[in-house]
Amino acid sequence: MLTLERTDHRTRSQRVYNEALKVAMSDRVMLPDHLLTSDSRIQDMPRGIRAVYDSYYWAAHSLKARAWLQAVIVFNIMLIGFDAFLDPSLILPSLVIRGAIVTAILLALWILWGRERGHAIQGASLIVVSATIVTEAGILGFAGGEPLFERYLNGGLFTVATAILFFPIAFVWTMAAVTLAMVLYVVMLAIGPVTEPLIAVFTGCFYCSAMVTFASTRKAALRSHWKSFKSKVRELRDQETLEQLNSELRLAASLDPLTGALNRRAAQEETTRICENGAEDVAFLMLDIDDFKSLNDRYGHATGDDCIRQVAQCIAENLRSCDLVSRYGGEEFCVVLNGATKDCAFAVAERIRESIERLRIGEPGRPIDRTVTVSIGLALRHGDEIPEKTIGRADEALYTAKRTGKNRTVIAPVPSDGTNPSPRPGEQHRRAVA
Ligand code: GH3
Ligand code: MG
Ligand code: MG
Repeated sequence: MLTLERTDHRTRSQRVYNEALKVAMSDRVMLPDHLLTSDSRIQDMPRGIRAVYDSYYWAAHSLKARAWLQAVIVFNIMLIGFDAFLDPSLILPSLVIRGAIVTAILLALWILWGRERGHAIQGASLIVVSATIVTEAGILGFAGGEPLFERYLNGGLFTVATAILFFPIAFVWTMAAVTLAMVLYVVMLAIGPVTEPLIAVFTGCFYCSAMVTFASTRKAALRSHWKSFKSKVRELRDQETLEQLNSELRLAASLDPLTGALNRRAAQEETTRICENGAEDVAFLMLDIDDFKSLNDRYGHATGDDCIRQVAQCIAENLRSCDLVSRYGGEEFCVVLNGATKDCAFAVAERIRESIERLRIGEPGRPIDRTVTVSIGLALRHGDEIPEKTIGRADEALYTAKRTGKNRTVIAPVPSDGTNPSPRPGEQHRRAVA
C-alpha cells in the first residue's frame, strides 16, 4: 500500500514536472532563465506554470487539510460527551453547537477541499475554521460558566493553531485567520466570566506567538518546495534543450546546405542501412547536370547555385518517400530507389530527366535562355553487392551517357567479372534481362 502511494506520488510528480516543462518550453521567450533561479517568486511566473504548480501543490496538501477536518469533526462530536460529563446543563447547547452547527460547517469545508479551489477560497476556509472554532469554544465556555470558560477558549486557540500547521494556504491568509482568532479571543475575554485576566492575556499571547511561528515555519517550507519545483523544471528544460540542439546538429550535419538534400556521407550511411536491412530491388541513379560549367561561366555562380537548388527540388518531387536523394558532388546527385525493378527505375529516371528539361532556371519572370539537362546512369543492385560497387557501375553508365550525347539515361550492364557474390534465388532471370 505504501509502495503504491509512493509510486502514485512519483508518477504524479513526474506528470506535473512534464506539464510545467511543456509550458516552460512553449513560453521559452517569456520564461527567461532568471525566472527559474532560486529567488524568483511564483507571482513572476507565467500563468501556465503557476496553474501547474497550484494543482500539484493542491494535490499534495489538500489531503492534509482534509485529514485535519476529519479528525476535528470526530473529536468535536466526542467532546459532546465530555461537555455532558463536566456540566450536564451543557448537553443541549453542546448538541446544537458541536453536534449540528460546527459539524455541518466543518463537513462543508471537508467537501469543499475535495476539489481544487482558488487561493481565495482556500484562504477563506481557514478564516471560517478560525471563526467557527473560537466562537464555539467561547459560547460553550460561556454556557459552562467561570471554571470552564478560559479552558474552553484555550482549547479553541490550540485547535486553530493546529489548523495553521495543516492548512497549506498563503501567509497573508494565515495571518488573517490568526488575527481573527485573536480578536475573537479578546472580545470573548472582555464579555465572558474571566477569573484571572492576566493569565488569560498571557495564554492568549502564547497561542498567538505559537500560531505566528507555525505560519512562518510553513511559509519557509513552502518556499523550499517551490524552489525544488523550479530547479527540477530548469534541469529538465536544460536537458530537453540540449537534446533538441543535438538533434538539430545531427540533422544539420547530414544535410547539404545549398539544396537541403542529404549530403554524401549521410547518403552513404543511409544506403548501407537500406542494403543491410535486406531491401530487394534497390536501384541507384547517378545524375550530372550537362554543361554546367558553361552555365556558370555565362550566368554567374548565383544562377548556377539556383540551378543546382531547382534540380535537387525537381528530383525530390519525382520520388516517393521511401527513396532518397543526395548531393554527391558539385552538380552531381545520387538517387536510391527502394523496391524498384529495372523498368520502374528507368521510368523514374526518365521522368526526372524530362522534368528537369522543362525547368525554367533563373529569377521568376526572367528565366535564362537555355534549357538545363541532366545525364543519368542507372545501376541495379545485384545480389549482395555492396552499395559502393553499384554506385560505381551507375557512375560508369553516367559517363557513357555523357559520351553518347548527354541528356539521356543509360542502364549499367550486369557485372560479369565475378565480383558479384552468390546471386539470390531468381537472380539468374533478372541478370539475363539486364
Ligand atoms: P558535363 O556535361 O560533362 O558534366 O560538363 P560540365 O560543364 O557540367 O562539367 P563538370 O561536371 O566537370 O563541371 C562541374 C562544374 O560545376 C565545375 C564547378 O565550377 C561547378 N560547381 C561545382 N559546385 C558548384 C556549386 O556549388 N555552385 C556552382 N555555382 N557551381 C559549382
Ligand atoms: Mg556536369
Ligand atoms: Mg560533374
